[in-house]
Amino acid sequence: MRAVTVIPGVPGSLRLLDDYPEPATEEGAILVEAIAVGICGTDLEIIEGQYGEAPPGTDHLVLGHESLGRVIEDPTGTLQPGDLVAGIVRHPDPLPCPNCAVDEWDMCRNGMFTEHGIKALPGFARQRWRLQPRFAVGLDPALGEVGVLLEPTSVVVKAWDHIFRIGERSEWQPRTALITGAGPIGLLAALLASQRGLSVHVLDLATEGPKPALAGALGATYHAGSLDQLDFEPDVIVECTGAPVVVLEAMCKVAPTGIVCLAGVSSGGRTIDFDAGALNRTLVLENNVVFGSVNANRRHWNAAAEALSRADRTWLASLITRRVPLSEYATAYSPGPKDIKVILDFSA
Ligand code: BGC
Repeated sequence: MRAVTVIPGVPGSLRLLDDYPEPATEEGAILVEAIAVGICGTDLEIIEGQYGEAPPGTDHLVLGHESLGRVIEDPTGTLQPGDLVAGIVRHPDPLPCPNCAVDEWDMCRNGMFTEHGIKALPGFARQRWRLQPRFAVGLDPALGEVGVLLEPTSVVVKAWDHIFRIGERSEWQPRTALITGAGPIGLLAALLASQRGLSVHVLDLATEGPKPALAGALGATYHAGSLDQLDFEPDVIVECTGAPVVVLEAMCKVAPTGIVCLAGVSSGGRTIDFDAGALNRTLVLENNVVFGSVNANRRHWNAAAEALSRADRTWLASLITRRVPLSEYATAYSPGPKDIKVILDFSA
């Protein structure tokens, strides 16, 4: 069958293989036919050779961690043939650490977790894959293709879950949320903020293209420009750019008792002249919290499936700005300036 692969650590090794083996039954009892795979910055880092790890005993890693498929067969009876399904990305470490032992693999403490399409587990960019029931998330059939947004939604559900848990350390009545970056993660974070009744602001550099209207359709206020020019202090900032200056400005801008959730991954390697003492002073004197958030556990995936079901389907569909047939796979991994979410279409 066909599969999109790389040799981790080797830039330019992206290939579409047409003789990739069928998924082994050890991968799980649920056999799934791929519908689509979403592409994100992590895939691009893997293709550039900066990230990613092949499964033990092989050089190749099948890409794809944002999955959508249709169940072919499930002898366990958990799902029915024809059901829409997505696969949970991370599997717990084998030790397991205290978090993985209670299925909080998103909080793995020893780094020995594995991830489909990223770290030591084959991804979902292949025509068929298998899942164990505990890593299979059924989707509302009405979602159709936008079900491919489940993985990035699970990541922002986890971020909001932790924001609210942290907020509840004291009496907390957040009103305003600022999302920095209007890519897929930022816009989905804004969707969840609006579902939580917050007054939402979205900041991005883009003045053209679909981003301002997508934010507006959520009832959010869109700001094009820099964070330090905003004339209010948000109670919560979800930082989705990973841009070092924006990260620092977010920490400085948040309101007293505010929470900054860092959800964007910086590439590193750049230094900035910055007054760390002044930042420390503000964080301490205002009881602020800055924390990082990655990945999601089963609870978040289930909540993400519900959040997508409740969202406006037309809005979700407009996040998908490009569908690339599998035969033209390489173009899917070259993002254009107007792209929000690009998907590889396995049905084409
Ligand atoms: C994925 C996460 C994963 C992270 C680090 C992200 O792109 O969405 O599930 O944990 O990369 O590998």
